[in-house]
Amino acid sequence: MTEGDGVETASLFPAEAFAVLSNETRVAIVETLAEESGLSFAELRKRVGVSDAGQFNYHLSKLQDRFVSKRDGEYHPQYAALRAVGAIRSGIYTSGSTTETKETDYDCPTCESLLTATYDRGKLFLECDEHEKVFQTMVPPTAASNRTIEALLSYANAEVQRDIEHTVDGNCHICTGPLSCSSPERPENLLQVVLSCENCWNYMHLPVAVTVVRHPAVVSLYHDHGIDVRSEPLLSLDFVRDPESASVLSEDPVRMRVTVELGEDTLQLTLDGELNVLETERE
Ligand SMILES: [Zn+2]
Ligand SMILES: [Zn+2]
Repeated sequence: MTEGDGVETASLFPAEAFAVLSNETRVAIVETLAEESGLSFAELRKRVGVSDAGQFNYHLSKLQDRFVSKRDGEYHPQYAALRAVGAIRSGIYTSGSTTETKETDYDCPTCESLLTATYDRGKLFLECDEHEKVFQTMVPPTAASNRTIEALLSYANAEVQRDIEHTVDGNCHICTGPLSCSSPERPENLLQVVLSCENCWNYMHLPVAVTVVRHPAVVSLYHDHGIDVRSEPLLSLDFVRDPESASVLSEDPVRMRVTVELGEDTLQLTLDGELNVLETERE
């Protein structure tokens, strides 16, 4: 392929794209360029530590275009290379199993007994003896290393809130694809919607109250009470746990109401079926 083609005409199958990286020298090349962009052929080869120029050139050519670009005699990492190095460094693909379990201060939303937190192979979950898993999220091993279970829970909580923010905006937090939202339903005690990605496996049941946690009106209400709601565990927020806080006002068009009570203040948010907040009213 010549340089500066501009328009990409061919696309790779996922297996081919991953196969390109199935070689230590190529992984070393993308990791080196991610650390320092704009290296010459000689400098890059020296840093990667391959003495045979012909062999090095062969591996570099396999990466070119998709993972590495060349401009004015210098090599640069492409977005795909940076994402691959990010995934490698997060430990998702390379870390071994490390299981840790600890009792937490959080109580089960259903029976109020204390929940146990377990971290294993990138998964962090909270469970109750009676009600099994009440919360589960993915935390890359790099984020988990050197963090206690308590610190991990607080990290995971902030991550979950950020994921929910993406979700409410209609974007899948796994693959960035579009999400579709079901009609609200109340399978048990909390009013929920089901969000499913049209592009990947992501599928989640989300309590409607949870979707407004990062709305400016909610953040501001908590802020006025000296609380940064963005770092509070979702399970500890009264309005998230209270089945009465979310209700359906109408079904066609879908209108929902979430009521947040804090001290003497009451905030009401009206949502449409796409989880957009249409109106807020604070008393
Ligand atoms: Zn329980
Ligand atoms: Zn997705």
